[in-house]
Amino acid sequence: MRKNNEDAFRVDPEIDLYVLSDGMGGQAHGEVASALAVDTVTCHCREAKNDPDVTLYGDGRPDLCEHSNRLLSAVRLANRRIFEAATQNEAQEGMGATIVAAWFDDRRMSLAHVGDSRAYLLRAGSFEQLTADHSLVAEHVRRGTMTPQEAEASQLQNVLVRALGTQDQVDVDIDEQILIEGDALLLCSDGLTHMVTDPEIASTLSTYEPAQAAADRLIELANEYGGEDNVTVIVIRIVAEPTGLMARLRRQSKPTGRPGGK
Ligand code: CA
Repeated sequence: MRKNNEDAFRVDPEIDLYVLSDGMGGQAHGEVASALAVDTVTCHCREAKNDPDVTLYGDGRPDLCEHSNRLLSAVRLANRRIFEAATQNEAQEGMGATIVAAWFDDRRMSLAHVGDSRAYLLRAGSFEQLTADHSLVAEHVRRGTMTPQEAEASQLQNVLVRALGTQDQVDVDIDEQILIEGDALLLCSDGLTHMVTDPEIASTLSTYEPAQAAADRLIELANEYGGEDNVTVIVIRIVAEPTGLMARLRRQSKPTGRPGGK
């Protein structure tokens, strides 16, 4: 129903990186912020893949693996780029963006997020939200001052307590997970989660086996229910390691390729 699309995403199979961002700010500036977020994270991760000595932004966290620290650095840099653009350009003042980014090193996933775009994992029939929304209503629910039902009906649903570009520094949530064969990972903007319930999302991911079919159906559902906001989804399915001749050929042609396919 919207004329402009404030969501942006990037799927980069070469480095196994998946990034999604939802922008905010008047006129077309939400679009600028989310594009900047997605581009900056992708470029920084790509650069680091080619040259591990590329500068890390901010202090590294010793509890995290190298991949996660790099992703953390990428999101911090995206925050800085949006913040600088917003402070240097009066028209873009106040713009910001969410981010949810999954970066794979073989089956090990580094997951970074800021804002209310989400990551979900469907594993063996159990559906779990991996990210905690940085929104005002989600904070209320966590503190017990609002029920989930009240949060869903609230006028304050779109108020974020954390976003990229609104301050010069940002706290980034980072998670690490090992994914296994059969897992389905979903990254999505709030245009999906405000329209489609978690059980419906879970059953769609279970029913529609190919990732593209599941993604198409989720977008279709959000639009059937009103599609009030831009809707973006990325579906990643972990499939079995290819075996036999074709796999050997693939490994020979791509010596640094991951053994498992997605
Ligand atoms: Ca949105």
